[in-house]
Amino acid sequence: MNVVQDVRTERHPFLTGKTKRMLIDGKWVEAASGKTFESRNPGTGEVLAHVAEGDAEDVDRAVAAARRAFEGPWSKFKPFQRQAILLRLAELVEQNFDELSALDTLDMGAPISRTRAMRQRAVGLLRYYAGMATALHGETIENSLPGEYFSYTLKEPVGVVGAIIPWNAPLTSSIWKIGPVLATGCTVVLKPAEEAPLTPLRLAELVMEAGVPPGVVNVVPGYGETAGAALASHRDVDKVAFTGSHVTGQEIIKASAGNLKRVSLELGGKSPDIVFADADMETAVPGAGMAVFANSGQICSAGTRMFVEQRVYDEFVGRVAKFGDGLRVGDSRDPETQVGPLVSEQQLERVTGYLNIGRQEGARPLSGGERVTEGPLAKGYFVPPTVFADVRDDMRIAQEEIFGPVISAIPFTDIDEVIARANRTQFGLGSGVWTRDVSKAHRLAKGIRAGSVWVNCYQAMDPAVPFGGYKMSGYGRESGIQQMEENVKAVWIKTA
Ligand code: ADP
Repeated sequence: MNVVQDVRTERHPFLTGKTKRMLIDGKWVEAASGKTFESRNPGTGEVLAHVAEGDAEDVDRAVAAARRAFEGPWSKFKPFQRQAILLRLAELVEQNFDELSALDTLDMGAPISRTRAMRQRAVGLLRYYAGMATALHGETIENSLPGEYFSYTLKEPVGVVGAIIPWNAPLTSSIWKIGPVLATGCTVVLKPAEEAPLTPLRLAELVMEAGVPPGVVNVVPGYGETAGAALASHRDVDKVAFTGSHVTGQEIIKASAGNLKRVSLELGGKSPDIVFADADMETAVPGAGMAVFANSGQICSAGTRMFVEQRVYDEFVGRVAKFGDGLRVGDSRDPETQVGPLVSEQQLERVTGYLNIGRQEGARPLSGGERVTEGPLAKGYFVPPTVFADVRDDMRIAQEEIFGPVISAIPFTDIDEVIARANRTQFGLGSGVWTRDVSKAHRLAKGIRAGSVWVNCYQAMDPAVPFGGYKMSGYGRESGIQQMEENVKAVWIKTA
């Protein structure tokens, strides 16, 4: 581990010392209860801002505003007008990108090198959705009824969407929810994660600046059990688009039953990353390493079950551990930092809990393995890149989502065996394959039950390419045409 101590201290322009209010019906308001909660910098523990703490009453107000907007002037907006708004928003996000990425870094701890690298993704998503605004359409469908009937479909917006997001990528997660809403003519109540509400609130200012009418986008920060649960169970919400843990996903489904609202779920994972002996080691070592160490492993599709072909197992796993050891762990505001802190004390406890479990189960840490307790990082929630060797499939560290920078390295000998073992998990979000053999690559791409397979790369994403889960990693897709879920109405006209 290579500790960086060079800390940047300028004040962020969004952090004015004033309470951050919520956005309802185009106005910035306090919580009805008057309550606030603290948002902290996980690297230092410093309070960044007090934030209005929404609960059921605020959610009610926001949903009512979203309903009025949906039925009101917003429904008259032509596709090209919604497109123009999205393009304006893309421009504003681009102009303010350094500020937005710095806010993500302060609030959730991702290294600034990482949040800054999201520029193309953030702006690109908005431009993609802008394109979608004018590209969606129904169909005329020839029918075989006797007589003369004309039949066609209308594509209509689903309505009021409740969007609930996690803390691991606040800017891009917010855009992933707000973009399709604006493209299709829906309205939204966005509930950011309590750990990182600041960037979604700053983005909402830009949304208003882009000319989005009042009530179309509302942002209600607050806790999951109160604001989140109220949104998920609200009878006037037509759809909940949720990203988070599978356990909360199950709660969302239950809460949705009251009015049978639609649900899309992007949940957790325990993704296999499979390394064959014929792989190009120069790319596979950092590739498999960063598949887990990026964002301190706080990525739902992180490739945390690293299967390595037996005959290169010791060498490869040793090299990944050395690579992890060489990464710079430090203050996320320092551009040289590659691995920042975990998001919260709770997350630190969870990850260090798994480090203990791994050791008790007999796994051998080759790098990392314990929280940083000395030096300037001791106050923050830092866990260095960790590689556990000698992991067996049945260990908890090979089955459960840790959401930290922890690789469980497992040996394999045979291609069919590794496909079967890779699939022996309740999850199915991401997966990786490292090989120079094109037939192996295709066999694995077909054999792995997961929403994404990355061959000789990891975590590649694009606005046009769908992303989502199999099995308990959820259903529904984000990005791509598949995300543009709309109501399909069949219209029949007797013409003679
Ligand atoms: P994570 O472990 O990534 O924090 P969660 O699923 O707990 O995942 O949180 C993701 C989002 O879901 C957050 O915005 C959180 O506030 C919200 N949330 C948590 N519990 C509930 C709930 N019971 N109902 C609705 N939303 C919830």
